[in-house]
Amino acid sequence: MCGVLGILGKMDLPMARELLLLLAHRGQDAAGLLWESENIFTESKATGSPAFIELPNDSPSIILGSTRYPTIGKRVANEEELDIFVGPFQSENVALTHNGNITNMACQTEREYFTDAQFLTDKLAQYLKENDNQLQDAIGKLSSEVDGAFSIVGIHDSKLFAFRDARGFKPLVFGRSKDLTIIASESTVHAMAGLTIERDVYPGELLVFSKNGKLESFSISQNALHSHCFFEYVYFAHPASTIENQLVYDVRFRLGRALAHAFKKMNKEPPDYVVPVPDTSRPAAQALAETLGVPMREIILKNRYLGRTFIVRTQKERNAMAKRKYLYLTDKIENKTILVVDDSIVRGTTAKMIVHDLKELGASKVYFAATCPPQDHPCYYGIDISTGKELIASNSRREDIRKYIGADALIYQNMSDLVNAIGLKDLCLACLDGEYPTEHARFIQEQIQDDVESDGRDYERVV
Ligand code: SF4
Repeated sequence: MCGVLGILGKMDLPMARELLLLLAHRGQDAAGLLWESENIFTESKATGSPAFIELPNDSPSIILGSTRYPTIGKRVANEEELDIFVGPFQSENVALTHNGNITNMACQTEREYFTDAQFLTDKLAQYLKENDNQLQDAIGKLSSEVDGAFSIVGIHDSKLFAFRDARGFKPLVFGRSKDLTIIASESTVHAMAGLTIERDVYPGELLVFSKNGKLESFSISQNALHSHCFFEYVYFAHPASTIENQLVYDVRFRLGRALAHAFKKMNKEPPDYVVPVPDTSRPAAQALAETLGVPMREIILKNRYLGRTFIVRTQKERNAMAKRKYLYLTDKIENKTILVVDDSIVRGTTAKMIVHDLKELGASKVYFAATCPPQDHPCYYGIDISTGKELIASNSRREDIRKYIGADALIYQNMSDLVNAIGLKDLCLACLDGEYPTEHARFIQEQIQDDVESDGRDYERVV
């Protein structure tokens, strides 16, 4: 998961940095901006938030932005590593950044790459050279060779372009006014810039925007089946974002309503409060509370100046961050039955800690609900769960998970309610059902069946 941004039309660089901040939740490792002035690319990158990117006083008319989430490769440890790990990247007359993960990169090159975005940039520059500088031909060649998820935004010949893989795993949306075009991972960027979104970039579509306002669309790779990442709706995206015409907030609200019906079927004592784990599960908690007819209370409060637990790298880091991440309204907990709602239970770190803390503070019972079904398969398409053994649901039965986190009841969303709440049929659900939509991911999955004891990420063990 990363955030990508492309801007065509004169804009002050600090304003572009403000827009990039709206994608900071998609990657907190590092961020970069790249712009073109008089056919020269200039870039500035920083570790952590986009707010730390230093910028000259300039107003270029074509800009790329990137927030980095380290799907492959390690975290950026210092300023010296920014150039090799953090997009946007440039090569010859092309620059780009992307969101997703190329699963077969090691089969496509002998050179060692630290990021797949740099690999895509170099490959595209090579294919442009071999194809008379024709972008649609070069992109066609590139997309026929790579497997995985990629939503690309780039600059070529002073034009802004966008390209999305044939399955459309990761979101990419654009909006335009007379003087400004913005392509971004999420529509909140357009709202902040005063643009209405025109539409999502279609899966397999290349869009090329010229400075004179011309827009060209090329159908590069087609697949009758699309595989939009369901986890965008459950966790990644901002609730104010619209992806494939579905407002993320509404999806999360519907997920909460479905959970309420699942809870009712368990015939448990009703909770005194429904309590969201901030921030992602708040709309679901509202819906759950309304449907059950009990109050929602924000008893768990987030320390806003820490990052998301999911994006830190090691289990030790996760435990430490989870501990520092939440504060509790202690006088609202004693002798209460509390139904806690979180978006998902990935490794179980946060759920276990919250249940433990609430019980220590005097809660009589703690139920735990997840708006997402158990995730028991790794993701090869751009989130940092690349080994099955990291996932609590892949190693444990549901009752064992309940006991492990210490809850008095555990409620998972069921698959059909998840799909109905999202409102799209063509979803990637691979981390729930193991049905990987692309060939190389299936190959990796088959190879690791016999190799479950190995260390390291699954795709690094196989390729
Ligand atoms: S495997 Fe899961 S997280 Fe990865 S792209 Fe598919 S739905 Fe999204």
